[in-house]
Amino acid sequence: MYAVTRVIHFCYGHRLLNYAGKCRYLHGHNGTVEIELGSERLDQRGMVRDFNEIKETIQAWLDRELDHKMLLNRKDPALPLLQQLGEPVFVMDTNPTAEAVARLIFTYTASQGFPVTAVRLWETDHSVATYRASPAPSARRTRTPARALRRGRASTRLSRRPERAVRSISTAA
Ligand SMILES: [Zn+2]
Repeated sequence: MYAVTRVIHFCYGHRLLNYAGKCRYLHGHNGTVEIELGSERLDQRGMVRDFNEIKETIQAWLDRELDHKMLLNRKDPALPLLQQLGEPVFVMDTNPTAEAVARLIFTYTASQGFPVTAVRLWETDHSVATYRASPAPSARRTRTPARALRRGRASTRLSRRPERAVRSISTAA
């Protein structure tokens, strides 16, 4: 299995609703996102994907939609005020946690046809949230077993979105 990773830096602000810590206040991060693509074989150029393609597609979108924006939960009472003031915001259906932003970037990357296997968002130097395809990308194309469908256990949602979010935090010494 080959993998390539493109690293993109961007700045964003956010705050978390229903949260007791400091992150309940509006604040910002210098985020670093790692977009990992994987493939069992290389293309005719000997690549998983040209780094420039990731830059031109994903980084351009990220610069346009997320960079220097305030990422806010749709339910955030600060949202109408910031919009009224003309502040740049990006509205999310959930709390704009590092996990949710990693998933957002993963979903967009996949929607553009990239064989994305993981997106890691470093919110600080010592905290990273990962959203990855699970199981392996080749298995994602496997059809839902008929047995599971008969038992009514497999929903469209599960079979179409098999990824899971994993948060891993390492504490700085
Ligand atoms: Zn934060």
